[in-house]
Amino acid sequence: MNSRTHTVEAAFRQLYGTAPEGVWSAPGRVNLIGEHTDYNDGFCLPMALPRTTLVAARRRTDGLLRLHSAQGDGRIAELPLSGLAPGAATGWTRYPAGVVWALAEAGHDVGGGADLHIDSTVPSGAGLSSSAALECAVAVAYDDLYGLGLPRPELARTAQRAEHAFAGVPCGIMDQMASLCSAEATALHLDCRTLEHRLVPFGLAADGLRLLVVDTRVKHDLGDGAYAALRAGCERAAALLGLPALRDLAAADLDAALAGLPAALVPLVRHVVTENERVTRTVAHLEAEDTEGLGPLLTAGHASLRDDYRISCAETDLVVDTALAAGALGARMTGGGFGGSVIVLVHDRLARTVTDAVTTAFHRAGHRTPSVLEAIPSRGAGRLG
Ligand code: ADP
Ligand code: MG
Repeated sequence: MNSRTHTVEAAFRQLYGTAPEGVWSAPGRVNLIGEHTDYNDGFCLPMALPRTTLVAARRRTDGLLRLHSAQGDGRIAELPLSGLAPGAATGWTRYPAGVVWALAEAGHDVGGGADLHIDSTVPSGAGLSSSAALECAVAVAYDDLYGLGLPRPELARTAQRAEHAFAGVPCGIMDQMASLCSAEATALHLDCRTLEHRLVPFGLAADGLRLLVVDTRVKHDLGDGAYAALRAGCERAAALLGLPALRDLAAADLDAALAGLPAALVPLVRHVVTENERVTRTVAHLEAEDTEGLGPLLTAGHASLRDDYRISCAETDLVVDTALAAGALGARMTGGGFGGSVIVLVHDRLARTVTDAVTTAFHRAGHRTPSVLEAIPSRGAGRLG
């Protein structure tokens, strides 16, 4: 048992006066490619990060859910399961409470309640999906404790439902699937319509490469409304084309389809269709063990998000341009947009140079120092102790 597991167990004992029945873990994620394709029923290629959210848990018998987080406000929140419904929980407790509610809604007998203590190393709000890590850690803990035996895609749907209903975030399914279904040294090729998924070898270190995640530490406010507008635009385009979703538009039919669409929808459709293609091509490179070949695809993905989907910003563009000028093989913004993180594929020997160049460029432009972490493809959610 590692020291983090010990720490969470000890904190649980301190808080609740007894030992937990177990400790479960779920990772944050970064998406290699396939951005804003999930709500278009398309494809994406995320991987789990070595940053994880741990949950120590113990069942109760009185129908009470008690929640504490090392990243919370220090208090233990108490929620009776009988009154659990959207709106009943506030702040960060919406995520774990939402999962318990969604399990109960799906007809699972989780009514006894539980004591939970949470501790995470996934940075919050950096686009690395600390919210899904939290939901999925709680979901796997409940699945084990209550002997539910649910398939991972079903746990992912449950966690997604929690985020929709309790946190009011209309997220796609990628984050939860990545947290639940990833494995070491692989990326997860995911069909967001069927939730069919396949692990593709992603041997970065063996190829002398690194994937850096540069958190710009900026989040421009227009993000939330813009996400809903983009989603609505995609749905409208699909409806106009007579398709269930943009995923159903083949790349070969793109030009003909674009000719018949209102001008405002053209760049959205072009991004989604070409991005699905880039996922397919990226998977082909990985299967051919040509990791370097990913570089141009990442950079092309960024251009599409910047010029067609228009969700980049000065800070993410600055990271991409500076990293490429300093010798990176490829780079792109990742996540919802309007700030957040950028991924950079780089040779080992240039990792320091690229990081320094980005930091210097940020200082010159008057931005805060960006934080950089290395994305090592890691295991998905599961029991630790
Ligand atoms: P992201 O998922 O990109 O990190 P979100 O805004 O979707 O950003 O989710 C962040 C929110 O999730 C936090 O504001 C908090 O409410 C909740 N959260 C995530 N991890 C924890 C944690 N360890 N403890 C308490 N709340 C957490
Ligand atoms: Mg989130």
